[in-house]
Amino acid sequence: MDKNKKLTRLRKWGLAALFCAGVLLSGIFFQNSLQIYEQSRSRTTQYLTDVTYQLHEQIEVQVQNSLDILRLIRNGALDMPAAEREAYLADQTGYADFNRLHMVDGLEQAEQWLQARYGARYTLDRTLLQHGRSQLLAIPDESTVIYFAAGDGEGDDAVIIGAKQNDLLVEMLSAASFDGNGITMVITQSGVVITSRTEQNFFTELEEAYEGTPYADVPAQLEQMRRDLTEGRSGTLAFPSSEGEELLLSYEPLSFSDWWVFTVIPADALNTWIEGMTTQNLLLTAAAIVLLVGCIVGLVLSQRRHNRRLSDIAFVDRVTGGWSALRFRLEAERVLRESGGACTMVSLDVADFTFLNNVYGVEGGDRVLRYIFGQIIEHLRYGEIAGRSSADIFYILLRTQDRGMITSRMAALKQSIEAFDGLDGSGYRFAVRIGAYLIEDPKGDVDRMAQNANLARKYRDGQDCSFYRAERLQEQKLERELISDMQPSLRSGAFQVYLQPKVQLDSGAVCGAEALIRWDHPSKGMLSPAVFIPVFEKAGMIGALDRFMFEEVCKLLQRWTQEGRAPLVVSVNLSRQNIFAPALLSDYRAICDKYGVSPAQLELELTESIFMENTGWMQQFVQEMHRQGFRCSLDDFGSGFSSLGLLKDLDIDVIKLDRSFFTGEGEDLRKGALIVESVLGLAQELGIQTVAEGIERYEQVDWLQRRGCGQVQGFVFFRPMPAADFEQKAYDGRQLRRCFRPREAE
Ligand code: C2E
Ligand code: MG
Ligand code: MG
Repeated sequence: MDKNKKLTRLRKWGLAALFCAGVLLSGIFFQNSLQIYEQSRSRTTQYLTDVTYQLHEQIEVQVQNSLDILRLIRNGALDMPAAEREAYLADQTGYADFNRLHMVDGLEQAEQWLQARYGARYTLDRTLLQHGRSQLLAIPDESTVIYFAAGDGEGDDAVIIGAKQNDLLVEMLSAASFDGNGITMVITQSGVVITSRTEQNFFTELEEAYEGTPYADVPAQLEQMRRDLTEGRSGTLAFPSSEGEELLLSYEPLSFSDWWVFTVIPADALNTWIEGMTTQNLLLTAAAIVLLVGCIVGLVLSQRRHNRRLSDIAFVDRVTGGWSALRFRLEAERVLRESGGACTMVSLDVADFTFLNNVYGVEGGDRVLRYIFGQIIEHLRYGEIAGRSSADIFYILLRTQDRGMITSRMAALKQSIEAFDGLDGSGYRFAVRIGAYLIEDPKGDVDRMAQNANLARKYRDGQDCSFYRAERLQEQKLERELISDMQPSLRSGAFQVYLQPKVQLDSGAVCGAEALIRWDHPSKGMLSPAVFIPVFEKAGMIGALDRFMFEEVCKLLQRWTQEGRAPLVVSVNLSRQNIFAPALLSDYRAICDKYGVSPAQLELELTESIFMENTGWMQQFVQEMHRQGFRCSLDDFGSGFSSLGLLKDLDIDVIKLDRSFFTGEGEDLRKGALIVESVLGLAQELGIQTVAEGIERYEQVDWLQRRGCGQVQGFVFFRPMPAADFEQKAYDGRQLRRCFRPREAE
């Protein structure tokens, strides 16, 4: 028990440790995944900033180069006579990568020229076109970039305009688009997009894009960026697109024109792989957690199932499906505690259950047990409990100590159980024994209570329910002594055959005898069979005694025949237990053969009660008896609730009328006489011999003779006597003695 507890505790701790380790590992795993994600996010942002910065640098250099060259060309052109300028500029066009170079005299002319040439588009940022400045002016379409360089306006008003097609700048902008995932553009501080043909203002466009989306507050978030723009700071920003995709934006001011380089990419553009891995990682972690939790739940459930199975094995009776002995004991303790007393422990078993099991197999036995349990349950009242202990022993805890009530309830239970007819129509009937112990101390040991009920059950005092008596312990002690003395006495010859002659009424001569056992006990003196036969029957030891008697009688018959004495029939008693030993009759027959005795000289006496309980079975048994050549007599007829129907159903040779018919007084005696009269008449008609037992007076003999009784066995003629006496008293020489002169038939 202790070891089991330790194991269970260990298992519980083990499970808890496993669970904690699992949760810890999952936590670390989860944390790591998040860190990877965060890291990759910051690296992306860093990368974006770097790219934007580099782009910005390149744009700066590129633009600066172009402007330097433009300024040089302008200076060169101013140094030339006006007539040659056109040719000069045309010449410079190919040289400086400009597709077109044009010189005008002032800002206004420059503007007019530009408008005429490219439309209003470039004037969007008019503030740029000023004296003393050389600038990138506009990118009116994706392939053309316009620069200008103006004189200082103090005597030098000339403005040169240079247009470049397929400028490196354009290439740079498109090259930096992150494999098509990102957008790079240049915008002015006020939001004009230089690198696109769109007329829309960048900020207005943003506001409109988010209108009506769940991210309507995004433009407000961009406020910070706007502040940065006015203050000339670079920065990065993360925000969702109007479709919900997360975007990263990086901005860097250019040193000319108050322009800005903007780069926007989806947050996962560089991280697709890492994010995939991270997501996979997170999913795996989740799966691992689910698996772990599943395993633990599975383990716990299987542990519970295991425990339940263990408790089923311990608490449920395999055969009846009811409570086991252990469960019964626990529940009995509870009931006794709660009821506070006035309870009775009942023990119930089947007489000769071993025989039942042997003949009908374990399956038959189990069927009987299930039936019994069902009946017990039906007879229980509120708060009462029952369970099966080992084999055929059932315990019931009744909540009453009223003997009358207990007796009648147990009688009803006994009757309903014994009505069982489920053994393949064999007609075999079994009997149950019930013992009750009125519990004195409800706090006492339940096992002890059960033991007392068991003791009561074994009393066999002929009642439906026997009650425990403390003095029975004394009797039990004696029983144990008798049991342990039996075998030594059999060996030492302490068991003796007594014979009581039977006298034929129509001749007055001895015609037979009944063999009756006596025990010359070494310490207790001569014992009557009434003392020890029930003890040996109960202990299942009677077979050996009956066999001993049978063999002794055979020896006597053999000797008497050898001595030339007149033959006679000797009856021997067969205990109820023997009739269930299948080989008994052939065994007895073998003994006859051994001593050369005719089985017709032997009569087997079976008491009426055996026939009553097992009529179907006994029919076959009597048939077998006759097949082996033995005579059969029905002993103690009339002692119980015998039925005259028995005489019709059974092929018996002799009826022995019980002594009780002749011992009664008054009305009882008169009724007894009437019954005896009719039984004698019936027996005569059926051709069954009759023996009246326990006849002590001559007038009884006379009465019996007149009513056609065949024989008398009683003290009136002879008491049971040792064989040696029998030989003297029953025989007159070699002839059977005549005891009286019978009255002449009337
Ligand atoms: P039972 O087979 O009915 O035997 C008849 C009993 O009645 C005998 O008692 C006998 O002594 C007694 N008896 C005969 N005539 C009279 C009489 O006129 N007055 C009185 N008061 N009694 C008389 P016993 O010998 O004490 O045997 C008692 C029972 O023990 C037997 O009853 C039989 O059932 C059983 N028994 C005896 N020997 C054996 C045996 O070898 N095997 C078995 N299984 N049972 C035996
Ligand atoms: Mg007898
Ligand atoms: Mg008898």
